[in-house]
Amino acid sequence: MDKDISVIIPIYNEQDSVFELHKRLTASVGSITSNYEFVFVNDGSTDNSSYNLIKLSEANSKTFYINFTRNFGHQVAVSAGIKFCQGKVVIIIDGDLQDPPELIPKLYDTYKKGFDVVYAKRRRREGETFLKRWTSKLFYRLLERLIHFKIPLDVGDYRLLDKKVVQALNKMPEQNKFLRGQVAWLGFKHTHILFDRDSRKHGNSGYSYSKMFRLAFDAITSFSDKPLVLVTRLGFVISFFTFIVIVFAMFSHFVLKETITGWTSLIISSMFIGGIQLLSIGIIGEYISRINKNVQDRPLYIIEKSNIELDQFSEET
Ligand code: UDP
Ligand code: MG
Repeated sequence: MDKDISVIIPIYNEQDSVFELHKRLTASVGSITSNYEFVFVNDGSTDNSSYNLIKLSEANSKTFYINFTRNFGHQVAVSAGIKFCQGKVVIIIDGDLQDPPELIPKLYDTYKKGFDVVYAKRRRREGETFLKRWTSKLFYRLLERLIHFKIPLDVGDYRLLDKKVVQALNKMPEQNKFLRGQVAWLGFKHTHILFDRDSRKHGNSGYSYSKMFRLAFDAITSFSDKPLVLVTRLGFVISFFTFIVIVFAMFSHFVLKETITGWTSLIISSMFIGGIQLLSIGIIGEYISRINKNVQDRPLYIIEKSNIELDQFSEET
C-alpha cells in the first residue's frame, strides 16, 4: 500500500497549469519509480481547476484530488495533502510551474545520500516584484532574530520530506500553520540543492499581501515569544523615561521656580504613550487570538469531495 513517492500540489486557480504540470510531473517522477501518487489539493479554486483535476484523476489511476469547500489557504492545503498521502517520501511543489518538476530526480538522489529533508533553494527568482522579494527577505531576516533555531533562508515550500518528518508534522496540533518553520523546528538531517525559480506561467499569484502578512504573523507568534518580552521592556523603558521627566518638572517648579507649561509636550507625550499602548495590546492580541483558535479546535479544512479513501487515514493521526 505504501508508495515510494507522493507529490503534494496545492492548487488555487491554476486551471491553465494543471495539465502541463501533470505531464511534467509524470515524466519526472516516472523516471525514478512507477510506484508513486500525485495528490492535488484544490483549495477552493473559483476557476475550472476542480473540473480539470477530476478529469486528470479519471484518466490517471495514480492521480488523486482533494476538493476543499472554500479557500482555506496554502499552508492548510499542504497540511491536508501530507495527511492523506502514503509515500515513503513526500514532495511538496507549487502548482503554478514556478518550481520545475524536473528537479525531483535530483532531490531524490540527494535524499538517497541519507537526508530526511531536502530543500530546493532559490538561486534566482524570476518574475517576482521587487517589493515581494524585498519584503520576504526582510521578513526572514527578522524571523531569524526572533527564533532560537535555524530556519533556512531563500527556500520556498518546494522540498522533499521523509515519512518520519511527515508523521511528526501531522502530530503538530497548531491551527495557524507555518510549515516552513515547523519543518525547521523539527530538526532532522537536512540539506538543500540550488535551482533557478521560474516565473509564473499562467494567472496571478494567489498570495495577496494580506495573506502574506497573515503568514508572517503566524510565523512569528508560533515560534517566538520575543514580541511579548519586547512589550514588557518597552513598558519599563517608557516608565523610566516618564519618571525622569516628572523629576525634572518638579525640580524646575520648586528649585528653578520655572513651571513648565505647554500644550505641545502634553499632547505629544500622551499620543506617544497611546500609540505604544495600542501596539502592545495588538501584539498581545495576536497571541490571544492564537490561543482562541487552538482552544476552539475546529477542523482545519472541510473536504467537499475526493477520490481518496479518506477513512483509512483516520486512526493514524
Ligand atoms: N495556493 C493555495 N491557496 C491559496 C494561495 C495559493 O493553495 O490561498 C497555492 C497556489 O495554487 C500555488 C501555491 O499555493 O500552487 C503557491 O502560491 P502562489 O504561486 O500564488 O504564491 P507565490 O509563488 O506568488 O508566493
Ligand atoms: Mg507562485
